[in-house]
Amino acid sequence: MTSTRKSVVDRSVDAALEGVPLQLLFGGRWQPAADGSAFAVEDPSTGETLCEVADAGADDARAALAALWEAQRDWHRTAPRERGEILRRVYEGLTERADRLALLMTLEMGKPLAESRAEIGYAAEFFRWFAEEAVRIEGRLGVSPNGANRTLVTPQPVGPSVLITPWNFPMAMGARKIAPAMAAGCTTIIKPAQQTPLSTLALAALLKESGLPPGVLSVLTTTKPGEVVGPLLKDHRIRKLSFTGSTEVGRRLLQEAADNVLRVSMELGGNAPFIVCADADLEAALDGAMLAKMRNMGEACTAANRFYVERPIYDEFVERFAERMSRLRMGRGTEEGVEVGPLVDRAAVDKVEGLVREAVAAGAKPVVGGQSSSSPGYFYEPTVLTDVPENVSICHEEIFGPVAPVSAFDNDDDVLVAANSTHSGLVAYAYTSDLQRGMRFVEEVETGMMGLNRGLVSDPTAPFGGVKHSGLGREGSHEGIEEFLDLKYVAMPR
Ligand code: NAP
Repeated sequence: MTSTRKSVVDRSVDAALEGVPLQLLFGGRWQPAADGSAFAVEDPSTGETLCEVADAGADDARAALAALWEAQRDWHRTAPRERGEILRRVYEGLTERADRLALLMTLEMGKPLAESRAEIGYAAEFFRWFAEEAVRIEGRLGVSPNGANRTLVTPQPVGPSVLITPWNFPMAMGARKIAPAMAAGCTTIIKPAQQTPLSTLALAALLKESGLPPGVLSVLTTTKPGEVVGPLLKDHRIRKLSFTGSTEVGRRLLQEAADNVLRVSMELGGNAPFIVCADADLEAALDGAMLAKMRNMGEACTAANRFYVERPIYDEFVERFAERMSRLRMGRGTEEGVEVGPLVDRAAVDKVEGLVREAVAAGAKPVVGGQSSSSPGYFYEPTVLTDVPENVSICHEEIFGPVAPVSAFDNDDDVLVAANSTHSGLVAYAYTSDLQRGMRFVEEVETGMMGLNRGLVSDPTAPFGGVKHSGLGREGSHEGIEEFLDLKYVAMPR
């Protein structure tokens, strides 16, 4: 085996890594990279190496594609119930192994164990949901208005698909793509983020164990994403790209996909406004604010990026929000009671530091936090900023960290202009006890999703996705499987 464990930081690492293949998967076999190379996976809470995994190159991508192409026809012909039962076994496997998989995720990504456990549950639900959807792919039969012809519309799998996932939800983002693709009858190559390949490798091992036929799923872990993905997107055998990640990379991949006229799904970055009206249930709004800001240490596309609080309750909201943020326990995610883990890497800390520094230089005031931590690992304190000028970068860029800029607003017209003053359109949150007011926000905020008196929108049974520069298409729900289906229309005389 070329890819091997390198250093062991403690016994929990041994337990979590046990049985996780550290190689590439294609043609139903785990194998080293063709050139024998491997790369290190780091624990962001210590900066130490956890293990090494195979580092795929263009030759491996070509081999994975050949295996995928070969498997496509049989996989399409497999009975929907059979496909669904494989997915159901994955749901059961994830549920049974939740604790071990949560530890693995915390080690490679940093989030506290309770959040990793919640993510495993969320990921498992995609397999349960799409196991049920696999047997409900329906077409329709109609008669033309003049009665002369029949029209038959039948869904077909799009075909071999490339799936690319980010590091922030290492298991759920893959599950949200693999489960509907498998249910629809598509073969796939998944390329996880280089910071967090282990959760995807563990998931692929479980899929294999659950009876997935050889070639249906390939996994390419790599430090050379362009070299591996570029040739795949150019090849006529690939018919679909499903990407979750930054708007910047998504835009580039859209251009590459255009040359080969691929079907695309794009789940991109966000810049969510969180609006609190004076008539809101303040306690509920604070609960929602903590969830929307601090889930995943703020490293979520759905994270509240900007808080707008109506002036009569502004001071009280800031005081109570800052008090809650200051009470959070920061530390290594594997320790019981820790609520805030490290950011994913040094670059993530540098970015947050830069945004806060610029805002403070322009007049923003840190009510709590405002510093990175000097301990090993990539920690940044939960931070609340007030008096943030609208023109600083922190109001316009995705923070992707535990920092909450809070401003006051005086009327709904103004807050709607502020909320929509972004190219992003993933999600917004609003707290109000006035239904008419709430519905105005729902209708006028330019996003694909809205949390109305809720600080969490992710739900496998609901269509997740954005408008504007936040993406194209939806994941989860009935719409999630449609992203992997084409419609074929058959014309027949009556
Ligand atoms: P990223 O830098 O865009 O990377 C995402 C994925 O794209 C990674 O697997 C990355 O590989 C790969 N990639 C990078 N360059 C590529 C290239 N030239 N060709 C092919 N693949 C390439 O994003 P990230 O930092 O991992 O994730 C954070 C971003 O994801 C945030 O903007 C967040 O909002 C967004 N996100 C969106 C959703 C949603 O549902 N809308 C959900 C989660 C996250 P490497 O790891 O090798 O760079």
